[in-house]
Amino acid sequence: MTKVVKFGGSSLASAEQFKKVKEIITAEASRRFVIPSAPGKRFPSDTKVTDMLYACYDLAAKGKDFKEEFNAIKERYYGIINELGLDLSLEQEFEVIRACFIGKAGRDYAASRGEYLNGIVLAKYLGFNFVDSADVIFFNDQGQFDSKKTGRSLSARLETMENAVIPGFYGSMPNDTIKTFSRGGSDITGSIVAAAVNADLYENWTDVSGFLTCDPRIVSNPKPITTITYKELRELSYMGATVLHEDAIFPVRKAGIPINIKNTNKPEDVGTMIVESTSQKPAYTITGIAGKKGFTVINIEKDMMNAEIGFGRKVLEVFEKNGICFEHMPSGIDTMSVVVHQQEFADKEQEILAGLHRNCHPDTIDIETDLALIAVVGRAMKSNRGTAGRIFSALAHAHVNVKMIDQGSSELNIIIGVSEDDFEIANKAIYDIFVETKL
Ligand code: ASP
Repeated sequence: MTKVVKFGGSSLASAEQFKKVKEIITAEASRRFVIPSAPGKRFPSDTKVTDMLYACYDLAAKGKDFKEEFNAIKERYYGIINELGLDLSLEQEFEVIRACFIGKAGRDYAASRGEYLNGIVLAKYLGFNFVDSADVIFFNDQGQFDSKKTGRSLSARLETMENAVIPGFYGSMPNDTIKTFSRGGSDITGSIVAAAVNADLYENWTDVSGFLTCDPRIVSNPKPITTITYKELRELSYMGATVLHEDAIFPVRKAGIPINIKNTNKPEDVGTMIVESTSQKPAYTITGIAGKKGFTVINIEKDMMNAEIGFGRKVLEVFEKNGICFEHMPSGIDTMSVVVHQQEFADKEQEILAGLHRNCHPDTIDIETDLALIAVVGRAMKSNRGTAGRIFSALAHAHVNVKMIDQGSSELNIIIGVSEDDFEIANKAIYDIFVETKL
């Protein structure tokens, strides 16, 4: 059995956390390949090393003095090394990094050093091999992840090793410069490594015991989700459930490898299993609720719209030409609404309105802002009658006005649009009806 284990920034923020991580890894011989993040926050007001690196590099890039900021980063690593009693000097590494900062090696290079250095420290502490991700994770000329080249290189390299630490978050470009994934991207590295070594399980260790049925900032102590399918997770992640980077599911999903989200501070908790499919019945009709604020709806009205061939295409063409992605598009006989991200739309508002008038000749266009979307997700909804009915009666009882409804054809989710002011109440009402009262 082979497990790939990824540890997030808070799991590796201090020597104390490193000790917990070592205990977890050595508890099972199957935990052979380890993906570390950069040291994260040790306490709420602390700064992640990745953010320190970005800030330090920004000074260097402007030609300003960055000594103090650079020393603060060194101190984070030396704090860990000294407290663990490791015989390890990173002086040479820091000299190279300093020179590359002065030489303006790029923000991605700068940020990647957080994981790189933490990988060296962790490998030393565990007595594992260290594999620099720049040598095994590749991007193409367009900056897209090159899965074929990476898969080949990683498999060949790791095949020869009993164990290894492979830093998360970055890889290299064809011209040998460093490129990172988007923030939180060590999750993606872990998934890529798991697929490359054909792991039995990808364990993603973080500071929470998995996904919860609802945002804990809205509902106190929401029930945990013990098993979730990739499809359900995709819906929830997209709507703001942030435990795992949303792109991290693709490499393992293709290879049929489950992910287990685990808590470094409570390793005995079962966490959340993310699987392709399962015969396990969820505890409730719904698996989870997630939502986001900050949407705008553009309502377009035109008599006889339903008989006009190509109307929808003409509308969407305007959004496409302005580089705006649409989220949902509920429609009536003579109306069509396009739901977009408020921030993106605001920058292009007048161009889009002019384009719609020119392209589609509508009778009226009306814009509604400050909309929140809530996704109610669950594989059990398909086989349960009345889920929508219960959602809407719960919302009515909570005096929430529903502005938009969208049920995907997969019957995996129901998306509800409400005013931002009603967002919290609506989440709570839906949670209560399905989870608290188990209806
Ligand atoms: N250290 C990077 C970040 O803070 C990547 C990661 O932790 O996954 O975003």
